[in-house]
Amino acid sequence: MNGDVSALDGYLRAQEKKDLLRFITCGSVDDGKSTLIGRLLYEGGMLLDDQLDSLKGESARAGLQGGDLDFALLVDGLSAEREQGITIDVAYRFFMTDKRKFIVADTPGHEQYTRNMATGASTADLAIILADVHRSSELLTQTRRHSYICSMLGIRHIVLAVNKMDLVRYDQSVFEAYAARYRTFARQLGLTQVECIPLSALRGDNVVAPSRHMTWYRGPALLPYLETVEIGRQSTTRPLRMQVQWVNRPTAEFRGFAGTVASGIVRTSDRIKVLPSAQEALVSRIVTRDADLDRAVDGQAVTLVLDREIDVSRGDVICAADAPVSIADQFVAHVLWMASEALMPGRTYLIKAGTVTAQATVTTLKHRISIDTLEHIAARTLQLNEIGLCNISLDRPIAFEPYGESRELGSFILIDRITNQTIGMGLIEFALRRADNIHWQSFEVSRTARAAQKNQKPAVIWFTGLSGSGKSTIAAALEKRLYSLGRHTYVLDGDNVRHGLNRDLGFTDADRVENIRRVAEVARLMVDAGLLVIVSFISPFRSERTTARNLMGEGEFLEVFVDAPLEVCEARDPKGLYKKARQQELMNFTGIDSPYEAPETPDVRLDTSRLPVEAAVEQLIRVLEARGLTKA
Ligand code: ADP
Repeated sequence: MNGDVSALDGYLRAQEKKDLLRFITCGSVDDGKSTLIGRLLYEGGMLLDDQLDSLKGESARAGLQGGDLDFALLVDGLSAEREQGITIDVAYRFFMTDKRKFIVADTPGHEQYTRNMATGASTADLAIILADVHRSSELLTQTRRHSYICSMLGIRHIVLAVNKMDLVRYDQSVFEAYAARYRTFARQLGLTQVECIPLSALRGDNVVAPSRHMTWYRGPALLPYLETVEIGRQSTTRPLRMQVQWVNRPTAEFRGFAGTVASGIVRTSDRIKVLPSAQEALVSRIVTRDADLDRAVDGQAVTLVLDREIDVSRGDVICAADAPVSIADQFVAHVLWMASEALMPGRTYLIKAGTVTAQATVTTLKHRISIDTLEHIAARTLQLNEIGLCNISLDRPIAFEPYGESRELGSFILIDRITNQTIGMGLIEFALRRADNIHWQSFEVSRTARAAQKNQKPAVIWFTGLSGSGKSTIAAALEKRLYSLGRHTYVLDGDNVRHGLNRDLGFTDADRVENIRRVAEVARLMVDAGLLVIVSFISPFRSERTTARNLMGEGEFLEVFVDAPLEVCEARDPKGLYKKARQQELMNFTGIDSPYEAPETPDVRLDTSRLPVEAAVEQLIRVLEARGLTKA
């Protein structure tokens, strides 16, 4: 990997005078994507001799005649190696011609996963969208989705590569009809720079040179178009923004802030402001590996030294002092969901915006966008590959810009807290001012005072387990016992809360998430009031139980896994619910047709198939005693 990078570095330096086009190809292998990339690399002279030899051999074996090369063999072979176990995997390939340098984001991965494509698109100036005109004369959902993602990610230049023209007898009318359909769709997305090119990646028609099979086509072949298309970049005219990647402190005397200038120009003695702290300073040096600079522009990696000591840490944004970015902890954002498990409002995820990591909750899903009709559709969840507009709330303010103004400071990814997988990509539209307007009221009587008056340490004792495992029974017995010890308690029980506060919620996964979110919030208020709160809810998902734990202070949350095998719970069936579920009179029943994620490391596990109720209560009391929760 390092070898690649330094070879590449040298290569790029040597070519510094030529300008660079970053592009992405969207489409699946069957659309001819690999063949097209392979052919461009070949024409760009980027294949090594041994690669070429083995390609010739394999192409002949694959049945191609007369020295024709099957470029798909080349690119597919490379991507298969890379795909193992990596979440986001985009390979950037480099090639050049006499006129330009190119970086193509090659995005392997399963066709139904858009995450590789979206990652590649986020840095591209231009997208080649491949369509297999032989497969369908209609625009496929995939083509619409790719176009939508490109427009959402701010790509202004689209090449529609109408591929496999050889299979439709190079028929002009087939091409014209397809191109017209696409232009209509693209216009709705606000994509105005669209070039439609009829080609055959396999036969080489209109890829590098005009095809002799399509003399009716007057436009450019693909490569000449890529060599000459004008990409207007104007980020130097925008104010300075640089996100701090790391604080460079090799000796006690030197302290610099390293990062890549995202937009604008920085000069020595410029006044800058660091966000979110809003402290100001002057730039005293601009350091690079080679020498100090007087100025640096967007795209340059530099280390800034300031004229005074101010607080700067990784993730902060250095801005022009007179045009700083905003900070906020609530946003409206477009989210592209990339995981097979749905996005659920109310669930907490990790958010990574540049180098900042925070906790984020989708508070509202405003709508989903239909890729086919571009309509806004009411939705309660987002499924794999769906795009929606959401309100997102963070646990702390971050410095940002709307995506339309800055790709670097306006985009983020969402990460699953348990699996650490990247599960969504988001683009910030604007901040919600609400964050500034609602203050947490502080009262004279503090939570410590309230707890002290009751002579106790407040906490949540959170029971989770299948229906019929014994949560309510043990909760009731435990409360009785604590009451007799003079403790101030309250039981929040699933069934009871569903009659009132959560009357509007059903049993879908999304509703279960919201159900638990509300209960956790209520439990937190009760802990604030100084109570020992016993929560008795199935609470089937690990993620929400983690959220509940994170809402409480250190040592204020005790997870109790009330555990009994499904057969035992079903045999008990105290409310006759298992019977109904088995007869399909009741849907989404935990353990039957809705999942239960058992705690991996609960604070207490009670096996109620062995432990009588009194023994379970004794075990709990011992744990509570050890934590100092049974007395003052
Ligand atoms: P949940 O609240 O988890 O749905 P319940 O407490 O309502 O469960 O029901 C559990 C049923 O199992 C009750 O009828 C209870 O009497 C019975 N049971 C039998 N053994 C035990 C035990 N060791 N612990 C708790 N409940 C038990």
